[in-house]
Amino acid sequence: MAGKAKPENAIAGNLWSKVCVVGQAFQPDCDASVRLESLTYKTRTRGRQNPHYGPGKVSTVRTVKQRNQRTLARPAEAGGIGFLTSAPVRIRFLPAAPDTGIVFVRTDLKPAVRIEARLENVTGTDRRTTLGQPPAQVSLVEHVLAALAGLRIDNCIVELNAPEPPGLDGSALKFVEVLRKSGTILQAAVRPICGVEEAVIVQAGGASLSLHPGMSDEFKISYVLDYGSPSPIGRQSHTQIITPESFANDLADCRTYVLDQEAHALRRQGLGERLTTADLLVIGPHGPIGNRYRHANELVRHKILDIVGDLALLGHDLCGHLVACRSGHALNVELARALCQTARRSVRAAA
Ligand SMILES: [Zn+2]
Repeated sequence: MAGKAKPENAIAGNLWSKVCVVGQAFQPDCDASVRLESLTYKTRTRGRQNPHYGPGKVSTVRTVKQRNQRTLARPAEAGGIGFLTSAPVRIRFLPAAPDTGIVFVRTDLKPAVRIEARLENVTGTDRRTTLGQPPAQVSLVEHVLAALAGLRIDNCIVELNAPEPPGLDGSALKFVEVLRKSGTILQAAVRPICGVEEAVIVQAGGASLSLHPGMSDEFKISYVLDYGSPSPIGRQSHTQIITPESFANDLADCRTYVLDQEAHALRRQGLGERLTTADLLVIGPHGPIGNRYRHANELVRHKILDIVGDLALLGHDLCGHLVACRSGHALNVELARALCQTARRSVRAAA
């Protein structure tokens, strides 16, 4: 969750976004290689999906490296108020078997409902990422997913007694703290680290997100935050190599934010009624109202945190250089969907 840039509105307004996948080589000699074809991929960002695949150049996603999967050494938990419902929420992180992935469990529903943190379960990207069909949904999952992905915890059951995690301070800091305190253990199963051979670009309404090839298994994210003028938020940029250490030290404490007028609009919708300017960053004409930035560029760092969380839905690691300009949840998920759906098509085609 983070303040909504103008291009996000443009995405919703235009309905159609465009994904361009550009490249050329397909390497059938690599088991985990998948072919990214389809020059144009269209999807509605609201309502039904209507993908269209046409002929185009081909890029390749291939496994650059593998690493052992991880789970928690012991359970962890945290509690707080839900940003959306304003109700008390408990979240429990439980160890899980290899290849389980991240699975949310709504324990407040009878019977309890499992919602896997997978791309195909994404049902909303407006201001936050939502998984599952109502009433069995969980919303605002990105900060929890970011904490798990940032620490490279691959298999975890996440129990919630509400349709959202506790909002806490709008960052992933508390989740990281309790997860690190519990510790992790390596598992025998492996998780691929995948990279592209040619740049893959998704863009919509002036926002763009591109994954470029890297020289190693390193994953780096650069983000340019630019709301244009007039805006109380100045242009910010940040580049971060994503490792468990850098995520915990440089990104985890960066909080979500809303513009002052957005906060009023949300309250009129009955959302965040118990939130105050001490709970998350509300940006007024002269900066945060009743609060202070933790980093001079805290807002753009939070956008990177959101990307880490959304791309966790892929189910594998990425490497290379991800460059984001004014993107949000919708575009983050579009990039992941383009990679994932084309991978499935290629596997079917090769069968
Ligand atoms: Zn966020």
